[in-house]
Amino acid sequence: MRIGILCGHYMPDLLTNPEKIKVHTPYGDIHLETATLGNHEVFFIQRHGEQGNLPPHRINYLGNIHAFAVSHVSCIFSIGTVGSMQKMIRPGDFVIPHDFIDTTKSRPTTFYDDSRIHVDMTEPFCSSLRTLLLKSCKKIKEITVHENGVYLVTEGPRLETAAEIQLYSTAADIVGMTVAPEVTLAREKSMCFVSLCLVCNMAAGLQQRLPADEISALYKKKQPLISKIIHLTFQSLDEKQLCVCPSDVSQATL
Ligand SMILES: [Zn+2]
Repeated sequence: MRIGILCGHYMPDLLTNPEKIKVHTPYGDIHLETATLGNHEVFFIQRHGEQGNLPPHRINYLGNIHAFAVSHVSCIFSIGTVGSMQKMIRPGDFVIPHDFIDTTKSRPTTFYDDSRIHVDMTEPFCSSLRTLLLKSCKKIKEITVHENGVYLVTEGPRLETAAEIQLYSTAADIVGMTVAPEVTLAREKSMCFVSLCLVCNMAAGLQQRLPADEISALYKKKQPLISKIIHLTFQSLDEKQLCVCPSDVSQATL
């Protein structure tokens, strides 16, 4: 199977001797690392660009997903850090979201600007990959995992106000800046998409302050666990069940 990994940070222990490649897309060149992992061909993209410096609102979302599509990737694992808006979801926990709310305002959200394509988002994240990820998390005893969650996507780059979090928390559980439009673009390209979220902080108003260095330190501490979850999940990919994600996009045409 050909698998894509989208991550906000490099994961040095994930791939052994990866080959660096550059994929030309209509949206610009995308730099990938590729390697074999077990029976799978893995393609890794640092979503913030080769230098890792693009803020969330300037990420080349179209280019990243297009690069996976032309590499014939069928499943995308998206890894990211989020804030928690619910007291029972704590920093250091993992969440495998089942739904999302998109409040972004200035990014491209579709490959189809010239046709009337309306992809079905009833179940945006691949149910089968979510099950496999959950099973892997449960095999690792140091991990607390939440098997459902609504991911609210903000535009950034600023963090949210306490009043915004109070409002958002009535409908969502975690807050981050990147799952949309990644998940919808993947569906438009008929790929399965799943998100593994590491909670790095409580959102505004639920803890005293939000120091960026603490968020990054927690990610570094947990990164080996993320690699372990991904490796375990890849070992079980043969158990993946049929899902709705690869359905023909032409069926979404008006
Ligand atoms: Zn799927």
